[in-house]
Parts: sequence; structure tokens; C-alpha cells
Amino acid sequence: MAELARATASVPVSIASPPNTCSGNCGAACKSKQPGRAASAPDRHALSDFRELAGRMDINGPRYTSYPTADRFHGGFGEQDYRQALAECAASAGVDAGRQPPLSLYVHVPFCENICYYCGCNKIITKDHRRSARYVDYLAREMALVAQQLGARREVVQSHWGGGTPTFLDPAEMRRVMDALHQHFNLLPEGEHSIEIDPRRIGDAQMALLAELGFNRISLGVQDFDAEVQQAIHRVQSQAETRTVVDAARRLGFRSVSMDLIYGLPHQTTARFAATVEQVLAMRPDRLSVYSYAHLPHVFKPQRRIDERALPAPAEKLDILVGTIEQLTAAGYVYIGMDHFALPDDALAVAQREGRLQRNFQGYSTHAGYDQLGFGVSSIGAVAGRYVQNARTLDDYYRVLDGGVLPVMRGFAMRDEDHLRREVIGALMCNGVLDIAAVEARHRIDFAAHFAGEMVDLARLAGEGLVRCEPGRIEVTPLGRLLVRRLAMVFDGFLREDARRAADAMPAVAPAGTPSADAGTPLPAPLRYSRVV
Ligand code: SF4
Repeated sequence: MAELARATASVPVSIASPPNTCSGNCGAACKSKQPGRAASAPDRHALSDFRELAGRMDINGPRYTSYPTADRFHGGFGEQDYRQALAECAASAGVDAGRQPPLSLYVHVPFCENICYYCGCNKIITKDHRRSARYVDYLAREMALVAQQLGARREVVQSHWGGGTPTFLDPAEMRRVMDALHQHFNLLPEGEHSIEIDPRRIGDAQMALLAELGFNRISLGVQDFDAEVQQAIHRVQSQAETRTVVDAARRLGFRSVSMDLIYGLPHQTTARFAATVEQVLAMRPDRLSVYSYAHLPHVFKPQRRIDERALPAPAEKLDILVGTIEQLTAAGYVYIGMDHFALPDDALAVAQREGRLQRNFQGYSTHAGYDQLGFGVSSIGAVAGRYVQNARTLDDYYRVLDGGVLPVMRGFAMRDEDHLRREVIGALMCNGVLDIAAVEARHRIDFAAHFAGEMVDLARLAGEGLVRCEPGRIEVTPLGRLLVRRLAMVFDGFLREDARRAADAMPAVAPAGTPSADAGTPLPAPLRYSRVV
């Protein structure tokens, strides 16, 4: 399940550093105010303020796995644009003389045997395993076309197979995909090579195969262990079968085990979800993602089979979230950012401490600075300042590749302004602090003048305790990290443009409380986005 496609919102919380560390709200010259690092420890005050604010701040917004967000990609970007991006990538020189920068890869496998009703991923439900054989052929063709454009056999420092269910492929098909990757790319053994796994559909032999193929990280979908919740979402998966996979991963030497949970699902309560979290903690995953279920049945058809009457009320959902934060904090997990937690010695936690964390289509990453190639139906890549997305349907994907053409459906060529805003949003979301002087120097702007409207909005959010605007820096507070998507939205130029257009279309004298472009809170809330809480 690629991060981009999840029908989920974020867990906007802040957990890091030892408990009882100052939250940074005290105003004293405490240790948490180190230059370049935001204060990140949560405390009861932040969680209590969060409860109070959540209702007012919970508007719809993007998840910012990219900026501009994928809904801004357009069909005016085509195959020739992608070829141009690949040509520039091929010509790029690394910092080491004569060594080109490594790449990151994403491989999408869209097939699943059963539907999970909450799912918002681009998948194909089928029990016909003959369908994947053809798909593997076309994946190899696409890799060959891209590699031809790149010229050299480039190093790959990070790869990820997502879906769908990548382990839908049989062992021979998995070997073929991996062989094709090795033929065209040099997958560095010291890199991160991960795959999403459905614990219901994998045995010891297949786990051993994954290790043999070079995967060193696995990501497991769990969602919830409660029997009634599992029935309601059509995903029955015992803790025992999940544990079997985790034990196999440890035995086989996988470097990291990651698990996904979702709160806000039907029949969930605070107590029931706490029991699930306890069972998960007993397996001690290195990373945990805790997503908020976003019920968007008008967008994702499978969700129409979820009984809305069984969904937890907003107050209950908030209790589940706060309870989960407290549980994970107590268990020693570090809050990485939106949705993501990690053990303190995990690479993500280390990267955050060192200010190297970035966002990419899989969420947070230690390697997001490199060009990312996407392979497979609907996959997204980011190459030489362009985003590119493949055809969404298998028919289109096959038809275009049959013509020897890269299956580009849409994309986006970033302008200087987009690079600037991406950097600002990334800094706030990943490190919780923005060094204004550094941004001004890199982008040759006067920050205050360039972002005059944004600073007005930010001042309002500062008034709510989400952010501190100090000379030369903007710092996200622990409370603000709970609602960091709301802060990122302030710097989203596309949302601001939407708001301006909406304001222009309004009557000259608008009723009290009508959203305006400069009012801070009421940016547009398109139905395509999930709630920020
Ligand atoms: S396993 Fe379930 S949640 Fe994952 S992609 Fe398939 S249908 Fe969606």
C-alpha cells in the first residue's frame, strides 16, 4: 500500500526524547531549544490542547508525500517530458568525482486476492495468478526502456516494492522482477530494500526467498487485531500469523520490521485499540505507522461496504489517538512525524535527530533526496525536478508499452517557486524547524516579503500555540507537530490560489464566518483530501 494512495489521514502527534522533557512552551532557555532542531517531546499539556483544538483545526488537507501534491499533476506532461527528465538525470554529476548520485526505486504490484473494505490503494482484486505473469513481462520492458534512457547501470540506494500485495507474485515471478532490476541497476547491498507483506499470504519459504533476493526490510499490514473490527473491514488476520512472519524476519536477519495500524475503523473503541497496540508492542516492530481512517466512499468504492453507523464518533476517535500516543510514548517509541513512529536506534529516528529526514511517496525517508524511479501501473517517480505518474489501468499500461513508449499518464515540471515551497514544507514536516536565512540564501528571496500572506496566517496559528515565529526561524511546537499538515497547508501555493479563486467568486459582502484567502484557518477543503486529524 503506497503511502500516496492510502485512504487515511495522519496521526498528528509528537513523541520523542525522554518523557518529562520540557515541551518548549515554557519560554525558559531550556535544552530543547537547540539551534536547528525543534523541541519534539510531547507532554500532557500538548495532548490536552490538542483535544481542544482538534475539532476546530480538523479540515481536509493533503498528506504532502510530494509538493506539489499528486492531484496537481496534469496530462500536459507526457512521455517526452519524462525522457527529458531521464536525460538530465543521466547527465547529473555526483559530489564524488566521476560518481553519479544513486537512485531510489519504487515497484508497484497491483494484485490482491481479497478486498479490504477500507482500502484506498490502486489494486486489482483477483485470484487468477496467471495475470501477474504478463505484468512481470511488462515491468521488465519498462525497466529496460528507462535504463536505456539513463545509459549507465546506475546505483540504487533504496528500493521499495508496494501494492497491492507484492507477494502475490509467485517465487519465479519475484525472481524475474529482481533479475530485471539487477540487469539494469546496481542495487547496493548496504542500501534499504523493502517490500510490503500481507502476513495472511506468506510462509517461511517465501520469507526465505525475500531474504535471498536481497530485501532487508519488510512492512506488514496489521490495522487491528480485534475480531469484530477485522470482520467489519473484511481482513481477518490473527496475531499468531503476524507473529510468525515477524519471527521469520528476525531469524532471517532482516534489518527492520515495520507495521501499519489504522484507527477510526468500525467497532473500534479506545480500550479495544489499546489491546491491539499492546499485542503489536509485544512484537516490538522497529517502525510503526498509525493512520487515521478517512471514510471517503465517494472516492473509494470498497468503503461503501463499511457500516457508517459502526464508525467511532469523532470524540472516541480522538481518544483512541491520544491513548495510542501515550502508549507508544511509554513504550519508548520516537515520534518521527505524520503517522510514523520508530525505535530510537532505527535509521529514521537517527536521521531525524541529525536533521536528514525527508518525505517521499512512501512517507518519511532517509534517502528522499535522490531521484526516484517508479515502475508499474500508477507508480509515481520524481526525476530531475519533475514528477511523473504511470498509466492507472493495466490495459493502458500494456498498450503504451507495446508501442515502445514509456507509459506516462501525467506529471509535473517543478518551477523555482515549487522548489522553494517544497523545501519550506519539508523542513516543517520533517525537522519541525525552518532556518529562514538559509532559505533566503538558497532561493535568493526576502522571506518576509515573499511569504507576507503566509506569515499572517502563521501568526494566527502561532496564536493557537502551533508554531513559534522567531527572528530567523520558524519552529513547530509539540502541539503544532500534532497538526503539522495544517501548518504545511499555509505554504501550499496551490491551495492558496484555490482560496483566492473561491474568494473572488464570492458575493462582495460575504456572511460572517465565510472563508477568505487571508483568514488563516479556512483554506478550501476539497473532498479529495482526508481530514488532517
Ligand atoms: S491487501 Fe487490502 S489494503 Fe492492501 S492493497 Fe490489497 S485490498 Fe488494499
